[in-house]
Amino acid sequence: MKKILFQSWQQTAVFHNPLKEGQLDTQNIEVRMDPLTGHQSTFNEAMEGKMSMLFPDTDYAYLEERAKATEAACFMCDGRWRSATPSYSTGFLPESRPQRGEAVLFPNLFPLAAFHAVIMLGDRHLRLMNELHADLLEDALALSMESFRECHRQDPSLRHFTINANFLLPAGASLIHPHLQLLGSPFPGTHHQLLLEKSLAHFQKHDSCYWLDLLEEEKFREVRMIGQMSDSAWFAAYSPMGANEVNAIWPDTSHFLEWKASEVRQMAEGISRVLKGYHHMKFSTFNFSCFSGPVDRASPEFRCFLRLVNRQNVTAHHRTDDYYFQKLLKNEIIIQRPEKLAANLRPFF
Ligand SMILES: [Zn+2]
Repeated sequence: MKKILFQSWQQTAVFHNPLKEGQLDTQNIEVRMDPLTGHQSTFNEAMEGKMSMLFPDTDYAYLEERAKATEAACFMCDGRWRSATPSYSTGFLPESRPQRGEAVLFPNLFPLAAFHAVIMLGDRHLRLMNELHADLLEDALALSMESFRECHRQDPSLRHFTINANFLLPAGASLIHPHLQLLGSPFPGTHHQLLLEKSLAHFQKHDSCYWLDLLEEEKFREVRMIGQMSDSAWFAAYSPMGANEVNAIWPDTSHFLEWKASEVRQMAEGISRVLKGYHHMKFSTFNFSCFSGPVDRASPEFRCFLRLVNRQNVTAHHRTDDYYFQKLLKNEIIIQRPEKLAANLRPFF
């Protein structure tokens, strides 16, 4: 029995098209389903090459103007984080605001989980995506792993962790200043739980790990592979949940407490390279989430997994890229074929 199925279906829409002098036009639509979750994404080949219709160009002058207007009041800038941010009790973490290089970790003022930390990514208020360098990300991710270890040690009920990012306003960030968000909870979030449940079902059905099976299939097919490092593999999602979705799998680890320095370095390197590629393709914002299995046991059915997507570009009156189709129908639009995305990003690895 085939373990990984890349399923899709085709349909056509027929109408008189004013862009073709009123002629009868037939447009072909492909719907793809994620092999694990069944999540659907839709590609209309008539939109090929028309990315700017959905994602207008970034207005860098506007971004600079917003950065200038918000810098003076930014609670991270000019060392204001030392007094203006919340801090942890040293009974919970060894330092109240752990630091590594230019990365600083402190609690979110309005936490969404028992452990909800923010990591400031450097002193600069405004960075573009291609300026989020691997060394800076490595410091922040190393801090993340140390904090997960400590908070699980202090409270073993905290077992489910994710590392997340909203970069710039259209991606949901309330601050221009670059930062990460860490969540740790006794319970996995909605999508995290779905990944864990579906992974277990695959393991029970096939007696093998979905993530290793997926990686083997993607490597065999090659078309969506972007790059391989010794401890991680990077590829374009077959049926993306967001624009230009890139995935990474760490095949040797099912949870974050198993990570060594090399896994951390590769996450930093990989993200930095993809962001350079996104910048080259003229995108300016992103979200990512990196998922861990429960940290109190090895999970043969799961592997650490990253989703990284673009969001709407920065413009003065940007239109959201998350509307009824995504938010309520839970589908996504493919703005460029994942196979083409992989080809565009390979030079950065
Ligand atoms: Zn700032």
